[in-house]
Amino acid sequence: MVHPADVVAQRTVTDDDGIVHEYEEELAGEAMEGGPVMVNWRDVAEAGSTAEAGYNVVIHEFVHKIDMRDGAPDGCPPLPSSRHRREWLAVLEPAYAKFREQVIVAERFGGAMPWLDDYGATAIDEFFAVACEAYFVNRGRFGEEFPELVTLFDGFFGGG
Ligand SMILES: [Zn+2]
Repeated sequence: MVHPADVVAQRTVTDDDGIVHEYEEELAGEAMEGGPVMVNWRDVAEAGSTAEAGYNVVIHEFVHKIDMRDGAPDGCPPLPSSRHRREWLAVLEPAYAKFREQVIVAERFGGAMPWLDDYGATAIDEFFAVACEAYFVNRGRFGEEFPELVTLFDGFFGGG
């Protein structure tokens, strides 16, 4: 589904104290489990100018779809065996942990914000989607930041 712009989703979350928060979230896109992929055309149209920053909403949402093919999104695409899956996560998880640490240090202690979109620090499946965006649209810079992920993604996507 392609929306012209300004896609606002109504969200409800219950916090640890049982308080329900309702808020609106503006979306660049969304991949629904067992459902469609939605993208905001404004963000799609800007893809040329946002590639430098490693940003691409279409790649992001379709990577979520690939991730969901073997169940709930967990940062691991469908792989032939559980051994492959362990090997995948053995590379992705430390990269995610290190990136998350950098974002936390930047936010709490004023450290330098990493180059990759900090949205990738919210969960490992978001890290996978955000990292793939950068891998496809700015391979050179992505490779400087995450050489181990370039090798991993080349193996899966057949790149190189
Ligand atoms: Zn996402």
